[in-house]
Amino acid sequence: MTENLNPFAIAQAQLDEAAEVLQLEPAMHRFLREPLREFHFSIPVRMDNGQTETFRGYRVQYNDARGPAKGGIRFHPDETIDTVRALAAWMTWKTAVADLPLGGGKGGVICNPRQLSVSELERVSRGYIRAVTRFVGLTQDVPAPDVHTNPQIMAWMLDEYEILVGHHEAGVITGKPQELGGSAGRSAATAMGGIFAIREAARVQGIPLAGSTCAIQGYGNVGSHAHRLAHEVSDLKVVAVSDEFGGIYNPNGLDPAVVQNHLREARTVKDCPDSEFISNSELLELDVDVLVPAAIENQITSKNADLIKAKIIAELANGPTTPRADKVLFDKGIYLIPDFLCNAGGVTVSYFEMVQNAYQFRWDESLVNQRLDNKITTAFQAVQKMAQSKQIENRVAAYLVAVARVAEAVRLRGWV
Ligand code: NAD
Repeated sequence: MTENLNPFAIAQAQLDEAAEVLQLEPAMHRFLREPLREFHFSIPVRMDNGQTETFRGYRVQYNDARGPAKGGIRFHPDETIDTVRALAAWMTWKTAVADLPLGGGKGGVICNPRQLSVSELERVSRGYIRAVTRFVGLTQDVPAPDVHTNPQIMAWMLDEYEILVGHHEAGVITGKPQELGGSAGRSAATAMGGIFAIREAARVQGIPLAGSTCAIQGYGNVGSHAHRLAHEVSDLKVVAVSDEFGGIYNPNGLDPAVVQNHLREARTVKDCPDSEFISNSELLELDVDVLVPAAIENQITSKNADLIKAKIIAELANGPTTPRADKVLFDKGIYLIPDFLCNAGGVTVSYFEMVQNAYQFRWDESLVNQRLDNKITTAFQAVQKMAQSKQIENRVAAYLVAVARVAEAVRLRGWV
């Protein structure tokens, strides 16, 4: 039977497994399997050539029982409503496992940012916010960046929102530039949280991190910071990195500064000095201590799971591993740090950004990272304890912790 790679079907299958272990009552299970609400809309945009192009946009508020929905906005040519639903579900479990007073949401626009001029990109971003202004807000739903969106896009979106509502409301969007109320440490936060989680996993596994080898798939916001921080914070030797065009390998380690310089010029890591070519599939199968998928969904599937040799997999990407691959990795004894725990650093510092905006007071980067470390380490330990006590996969354990918290909030509100 071919493997179902629809991300929302995968998110639902993961929940089903956890619901069974939790013995969740059927009505609650049915309620948590579907998004609370979703918005589908068109964004008409005047292009530079004078023609009008219509882009399709989505915002899904999966569950807001624990607080306002929270989640990024993706600009991607292959965006689908099911991808947005899955990511919104994972955000719900992520804010719960990190014990943030937030729910889960996600947004997306079907577009190819590489084919848009800067002014077209600005008009798509402002158009998106015009379409969702009535549904988002500090107390309703707080967007942030994700794949192919960045602090500049958040700045345009904040500006459009504030023009429409007629007052300043910095906390309505996070991942902003620091000049507009963004938090210190936000751009590196997802990777930093992952580095803290890898440290904890290595401790559990008795692997000394200094000098251990690491491969990173994806070299965008998350992957490039992960490379730098692996080098600076944990002394891991990163021997391979990649992007959508292919990868690079050096058994003696890749210098993050050299790769960054090359990326700035070439717009890909490929052909970087002091490295040899490696394909994305070869990178995933390298004999390294730590493998970090930091690109897109469905990279470790039933087709290649058996070929993975890493001791620890740190899922910085959302949904990189399919349920069938999960079983194979578990049977092989690979220690997996599941996505919504491993990459919770981004939303945690986004929450810190909301807190700082509310108080109009800035924390410095060391305080942000210290509080992030506390949050990630506490979440990691709750999941590790659950996995050990029930002898289950870490992903199922993370679901048990998160779903129990969301279900309790739903129950207390009297929804189910
Ligand atoms: P990004 O757009 O900045 O970078 C994505 C990278 O992945 C790019 O280098 C791209 O070339 C590469 N890529 C795309 N398709 C690929 C493929 N088929 N094979 C190999 N590489 C490929 O995105 P990002 O913000 O770094 O996000 C990466 C992942 O992390 C996504 O799954 C995202 O949902 C997740 N994530 C991001 C954040 C955040 O704060 N940015 C937070 C949590 C989770």
